[in-house]
Amino acid sequence: MRKWGVFFIFFALACGKEMNDESSMIPDPHSYANSGQCVVTHLDWRATVDFTTKQISATATWTIHRKEGNEVVLDAKSLKIDSIFLDNGKPAVFSLEGDDPILGQALRIRLEPETKTISIRYRTTPGAEALQWLMPEQTAGRQHPFLFTQSQAILARTWIPCQDSPGVRFTYTAEVTVPSNLLALMSASNPIEKNESGIYTFEMKQPVPSYLLALTVGDIAFRPVSDRSGVYAEPVTLEAAAWEFADLEKMIAAAEELYGPYLWERYDVIVLPPSFPFGGMENPRLTFVTPTLLAGDRSLTSVIAHELAHSWSGNLVTNKTWNDFWLNEGFTVYFETRIMEKLYGREHSEMLAVLNLHDLETDMREISSGPHPDDTKLKLDLQGRNPDDAATDVAYNKGYFLLRTLEEKYGREKFDAFLRDYFSTYAFSVMDTETFIDVFKTYYREHFNINVEDALFTSWIYSRGLPADFTPPSSDRFAKVEDAARNALEGQDITAATKGWTTQEWLHFLNMLPDTLTQAQLQTLDRLGRFTESGNAEIFSAWSLIAVRNNYSPIREPLRRFLINTGRRKFLTPIYTELAKTPEGRAFAEEVYRAARPNYHFVSTSTIDKVLSFDPPGL
Ligand SMILES: [Zn+2]
Repeated sequence: MRKWGVFFIFFALACGKEMNDESSMIPDPHSYANSGQCVVTHLDWRATVDFTTKQISATATWTIHRKEGNEVVLDAKSLKIDSIFLDNGKPAVFSLEGDDPILGQALRIRLEPETKTISIRYRTTPGAEALQWLMPEQTAGRQHPFLFTQSQAILARTWIPCQDSPGVRFTYTAEVTVPSNLLALMSASNPIEKNESGIYTFEMKQPVPSYLLALTVGDIAFRPVSDRSGVYAEPVTLEAAAWEFADLEKMIAAAEELYGPYLWERYDVIVLPPSFPFGGMENPRLTFVTPTLLAGDRSLTSVIAHELAHSWSGNLVTNKTWNDFWLNEGFTVYFETRIMEKLYGREHSEMLAVLNLHDLETDMREISSGPHPDDTKLKLDLQGRNPDDAATDVAYNKGYFLLRTLEEKYGREKFDAFLRDYFSTYAFSVMDTETFIDVFKTYYREHFNINVEDALFTSWIYSRGLPADFTPPSSDRFAKVEDAARNALEGQDITAATKGWTTQEWLHFLNMLPDTLTQAQLQTLDRLGRFTESGNAEIFSAWSLIAVRNNYSPIREPLRRFLINTGRRKFLTPIYTELAKTPEGRAFAEEVYRAARPNYHFVSTSTIDKVLSFDPPGL
């Protein structure tokens, strides 16, 4: 792999486009696509969304660029392929091969010498893991059904046959027909209101990888925030969402000032129903977010800064395979933290950094005692595994702390200059870990006459855990929180000390509490922070873990409601894991999970099924 890195640097400097073409020759362990021989360049998608049958029927017409051979290979999973035509109208000879539980099938299509496009008529099936069909009662408005997709990491192939590898980029156009009382949106140019026909057209002019294909359909309204940004949500949520995300434009301006122009024209956000499995998903032009960000005090908007930052790290410079996932997420957490620092000050961003470290250490402890301790390295080997396994705090926060270390070691000015050039040089192309190391070393040598030691990357990227010489972040405000936590545990009334605390200070307070607490201590703490009744999902879930661990019964019913109504995996996984540690907890978890599971997206159920050793119905 290493020699490829050196090879790419040459091409990257010579011609960014060339590098992208060559790089697609590197096999992706999570795709059957033969993009080295024949690569897709444009998608025209014509689709009808039917809520009665919970099915999308579509024609996907792919424009191809052939370098050699007489076939194109796409990824497909749980799709019903009806027919395939070549551009001359002739039916194509094709086969669906294999049926891997993770990867799905290889769709091999025979090409004629002159073939430029292929049209695939197909339907999705109930097994489409990207799609979540919601009944009206699972939405905020409770009147209309809702659909959203989640394609990352390799689920795009369950709703569109495609070369489902982050190394393959294409532009797209689409025409989507939905019931006339609903609005459709994609990761593309979007409508801002419903029309009577229920037919919506879309265009994505900038090439994107398949994991950034996105569609959502529902009773959705729009509110502008600035000329180039706005918020979509169900009508009953719109007001709260627009208030919570009022700083959108300021965030875009801060991001541009840091690392260069925003290249995707518009930046909008849609607040989805609560079953959305992530905090946010960086679908280009239209970030998808969970309603658990609507805390009512704008305290959880760093997720928006994160998804916006992906417009550079990830969506412009994309990890080549999921083994390099830290390049997407570590850069994004770094960028997010810089946006937050610019808008709300260093004191605030340092609190976020300390919380990131806490999350990372918790996750690394868990991973180290599990079957894949090498997952605490930044560079992963996910061959034969679900690439979703890469989505741990290691990619996000160990990646962040490596970049923070590079910044601190050689100076912020140099690092910012490097990042600006990095994002512009490699825009719309892919990056792997080895190439990044070479690019960084070369840049620092040529621009600053600095020789960066290999040992630094070896200890961060190819070794488990955190390096011995890692300097953790610190926060003065958190030091005061730690004093208050000590005093509270000694029985002192700390009400006055907590006055004006932010969400981040409360979270740190909860993180500082010991594993074991008495019922009396729990009651006093709960009176102090009103955690059990908190509407802030971060605080409630952190408190739930403490309450479950210490068998604090008042948490039971609020926790049941929370688990049934929230589909965000980040909250669900630790809570179900903690519950499963005792027989009573496990019984409660299983009972709640049976009721809650239909409200969760596949991304969440695939994780929680494992936590609870749950046998999915029908399998
Ligand atoms: Zn991210």
